Amino acid sequence: MGEFELIRRYFSPLAGQSRAGSLVLGPGDDCAIERVASGHELVFSVDTLVEGVHFPAGYDPEHLGWRSLAVAASDLAAMGAQPVCFTLALTLPEASPEWLDPFSRGLSRASRAFGLELAGGDTTRGPLTLSLQVHGEVPSGAALLRTGAEAGDFLCVSGTLGAAGAALDYLDSVSPSEDERAVLERYHAPVPRLNLGIALRGVASAAIDISDGLLADLGHILEASGVGADLDCQAMPVSSAVTRLKGQAEALRLALEAGDDYELCVAIPPALWKELPEAVRTQLSIVGKVVSESGITGIEGSLVAGGYDHFGSK
Ligand SMILES: [Mg+2]
Repeated sequence: MGEFELIRRYFSPLAGQSRAGSLVLGPGDDCAIERVASGHELVFSVDTLVEGVHFPAGYDPEHLGWRSLAVAASDLAAMGAQPVCFTLALTLPEASPEWLDPFSRGLSRASRAFGLELAGGDTTRGPLTLSLQVHGEVPSGAALLRTGAEAGDFLCVSGTLGAAGAALDYLDSVSPSEDERAVLERYHAPVPRLNLGIALRGVASAAIDISDGLLADLGHILEASGVGADLDCQAMPVSSAVTRLKGQAEALRLALEAGDDYELCVAIPPALWKELPEAVRTQLSIVGKVVSESGITGIEGSLVAGGYDHFGSK
């Protein structure tokens, strides 16, 4: 199968799936064209996933299709951006329909679910590697940044933490239990908090998505904002399935240190927290407070800020 046939068969159907309607010209020309509405800014980010590094060798292609776009879209959620479109650079060892068919199906489902239209891409031959660039839009000046957290702000996280990290132990389960299936679902099919990010524009003083573990990613907010944090481990939204599978102490460790959950970690001034609609507040847990002294307090001594370090200095 040639490159053009591959694109026509597996990727062209993904064009034209956006809700935003900002894509003036999609795939098929030398470049795509995107209209940025006046008074808005373009927010964009690129993510590269390498087989054997960011996902296991031989990983299910349909899960990979969903997951790769979800992971990239999560960075838009962290900025409070409205998703618009994405490009895909795909390096494949061989163009096999057995792989491409389920991969494009997973990618297409994610594209529709997140409102991200395929704007273009590139395919090459080589070890399996995906690079996805996502585009989003925010009203000018409204993007959520890592800078801006101030002493006294509540520190909040969305959803529950630790399930995707726990799932790594069950990826090869032949007949997973109900709890194992629940944590595997969180690993295979993360859902970026796009609507929550948008709802927190003008509310969150700082934000990040949790890709490398709460302590590691919170650390980025603290460093960028020049502040510290006092955490309350009792308030940590530990996944109940993980507690049953791993016990309380390990579940808490995973909630603090494990990556791949793609929840949001945000700082919110108490006065604005009170004004948040109930439907937004119920998606968040207050897990601590921003303090002026640098560093993180409130966690047991055995737990050190680790998270996933791409160069392995952990
Ligand atoms: Mg991120």
